[in-house]
Amino acid sequence: MLLEYKIGKFIKDMIKFLRLGDGSTFAGKFILSLDKNFLKKALSKLDLYILITGTNGKTTTSNLTSHCLSKKYNITNNKTGSNLIYGIATSFFENIGNIGVFEVDEFHINRVIKYREPDIIAITNLFRDQLDRYTEVNKIKTLWKEHFKYLKNTKFVINSDDPSLAFIFKDFNTYFYGLNLSYSRLNNIENASDSHYCPNCRIPLSYKKIYYSHLGNYECSKCGFKNPENYIQVDDIKTYGLRGMELKIGQNYYFVNVQGFYNAYNVLCSLLICNLLNFQINEFFENIKDFKSVFSRNEILHYKDKEIILMLVKNPVGFNEVLRMAKEENFDLIIISINDWTADGHDVSWLWDVDFEENINSTFIFITGNRAYDMAVRLKYANYNNFKIFENYKECINSAIYSEYKKIGIMATYTSSLLIRKYLSKFNITKSKLY
Ligand SMILES: [Zn+2]
Repeated sequence: MLLEYKIGKFIKDMIKFLRLGDGSTFAGKFILSLDKNFLKKALSKLDLYILITGTNGKTTTSNLTSHCLSKKYNITNNKTGSNLIYGIATSFFENIGNIGVFEVDEFHINRVIKYREPDIIAITNLFRDQLDRYTEVNKIKTLWKEHFKYLKNTKFVINSDDPSLAFIFKDFNTYFYGLNLSYSRLNNIENASDSHYCPNCRIPLSYKKIYYSHLGNYECSKCGFKNPENYIQVDDIKTYGLRGMELKIGQNYYFVNVQGFYNAYNVLCSLLICNLLNFQINEFFENIKDFKSVFSRNEILHYKDKEIILMLVKNPVGFNEVLRMAKEENFDLIIISINDWTADGHDVSWLWDVDFEENINSTFIFITGNRAYDMAVRLKYANYNNFKIFENYKECINSAIYSEYKKIGIMATYTSSLLIRKYLSKFNITKSKLY
């Protein structure tokens, strides 16, 4: 076992040293090909372990949880978001802790739980993701129902504002979290949403409040199905754009250095997980005070007098939220960079599910990425012509960097965010210490 850790670590370090990537997938893949039981043995060495899955927010929730717990425990965590079994295996080459906190792909979770029953499974939400990667959210639901019924001691931490999740997990050992705001944030269910039908009767649910996508306070007029009671909930949210937000829990407001309304759910999910491990609310917020978003999930950079904010977009719901946040920030220029490489999803038709019509204001836009023209067509159909196309992303970044624009927002798919971040590091940029 020890030898396997050493070989794994060596491979990972070599890949990094040779600049072939960060090695977070290959090293695990290699060790698992040598020893099929490696993950079983590694997981059995932990005192307990937590799996976090869902369409959006896995990485943020997992890293927040790991950050809080690490103040008291030694944590093994796949923090870069490499969330297949190989990435989880590789995280043991970084650190062998007492507690495992792993984000895991929705379709891969059954390949992990077969090795050891998790102590906690947390699920953030279930949206339609990249269309060609997973055809149906229904397939995921079926897979979960099939495999989770054998877990006798696992505690489930579930978003009660997502009707399909609330319905599936009402019969499990579940701790629900959700919002109970005094206002509705949206007037209508977004284009991007899937699950606003009663899982019982298949008729549309009536929503008293919609917070984002199909998440909200709902009720079925026929069977009475509605949000289950929350174990912990947020009663008010004050967002401060990229400067974080305050969440009201009980009688108190708690500040978090995490941006974007949608992240309130991820903070709450993480708080509930930590609470189940005996961390009090105050303690949780104190512990995550120095938390920083993972690279490119809202990273703030400075170059001379410019402020550059890098934001990841990967599916319609997330893109809508980024656009809403951008409205609050009043950018001088927005760069949208869309790639269709494997990690982004080859099918870019999801761009048609983004509500550009409602969520874009008059900011000038540079468009780049290998699917720049698809993006441009989408904007034209939204009656938006205030943009310029760059076939080469480096030219696009150069034009932005040497322009008069001061505040620049970059919205990029996964692979293009990596390329842009790498290219930006050639300039003399600094990371923000302000927020
Ligand atoms: Zn119903």
